Amino acid sequence: MTVARLRRRLLVRGVVQGVGFRPFVYTTAAELALSGSVSNDNSGVVIEIEGAPADLDAFTERLRLRPPPLAVIESVDQAEIAVRGGTGFHIAGTTSDGSGRTLASPDVAICADCERELRDPQDRRYRHPFINCTNCGPRFTIIASLPYDRERTSMADFAMCDRCAREYADPADRRFHAQPIACPDCGPALAYSGPGSGAPLAAARELLRAGGILAVKGIGGYHLACDAANEAAVAELRRRKRRGDKPFAVMVPDLATARAIVEVDDAASALLTSPARPIVLLARRSPPGAGFVAPGDAAAEGRCLVPAASVAPGNPDLGVMLAYTPLHLLLFGLPGDPPGPQVLVMTSGNLGGEPICYEDDDARTRLTGLADGWLSHNRRILVPCDDSVVRALDGRELPVRRSRG
Ligand SMILES: [Zn+2]
Ligand SMILES: [Zn+2]
Repeated sequence: MTVARLRRRLLVRGVVQGVGFRPFVYTTAAELALSGSVSNDNSGVVIEIEGAPADLDAFTERLRLRPPPLAVIESVDQAEIAVRGGTGFHIAGTTSDGSGRTLASPDVAICADCERELRDPQDRRYRHPFINCTNCGPRFTIIASLPYDRERTSMADFAMCDRCAREYADPADRRFHAQPIACPDCGPALAYSGPGSGAPLAAARELLRAGGILAVKGIGGYHLACDAANEAAVAELRRRKRRGDKPFAVMVPDLATARAIVEVDDAASALLTSPARPIVLLARRSPPGAGFVAPGDAAAEGRCLVPAASVAPGNPDLGVMLAYTPLHLLLFGLPGDPPGPQVLVMTSGNLGGEPICYEDDDARTRLTGLADGWLSHNRRILVPCDDSVVRALDGRELPVRRSRG
């Protein structure tokens, strides 16, 4: 007796685009020797699988129990359809029929694997400010329309090089179907304008070290940054932004630096390192101004970690976030770079009360007079997004301002 073959169509809804869902379906189907296809449509992800009934059930179970880490499945609708035969499983092009809505994933902080490559002089993406993979990188802010495919994102401006194209097409590669895939040969490029000279990042870091105010094009818009330990720089930024007494948030390169300036318990640490990397309001370490400097760097210029009084005047709390893009990490510097500020005021690029700047020309106009220098790049931001602010309360997350993530 032969085992009957069945074919099923699954419609998966939720946060299923831009989270490595199709590569996950591909590899799972391949492991179970199922044939069929997977595609994005306007409603979510459409999967057709064909094979022995027990294997089809196993597929659905894995989908429900072990989806990709960033996916949030809201529903799975299944229907039996006519068997087609055939072998092999493929990732089909996107179809635009289907109504309803799908949720694109939020932008996701650089993952540990990409950060390792960013720091590895042997890696071909060493110091590449736009490194990303299936599990991390820009999503929401680069999408012109759904379904989520490269040609509908601002990465459509950049033709993949051969090596990136091979990684993109290789189911065994961790950049399989990573839509924003890029490398130094084919990806976006940085540009700097302002005082100083040299490579864009080096010039920008020098401006910060010297107490200047830098406009930085991030993932969801422009930030204004300055050395948080430099009272004159912070006070000047406050004056130019017409900020009044409202506290500034700071960005630090890692958890260890955060621990040096604020009280970080387990709940706070989980929030700080979560993929959304929100600004977390935390109690300052007391006594304040104890003069903590980076270990082994006590005399190094620009290494003071104590936030200046003007960062959050009279406030016992400090809003802290960890660097969440490769560009931020490079701004703090990698081994071999000259020392630079390790705590940066990072505030949205706008005048008090105005929306965040995210288009280059608009930023140029509106931020003139606010910034001394500009660190920009040619990947367009299509959807502006400000940083989220949260507070940890009794181990729970309490949103103060929801945005990124
Ligand atoms: Zn990654
Ligand atoms: Zn490339």
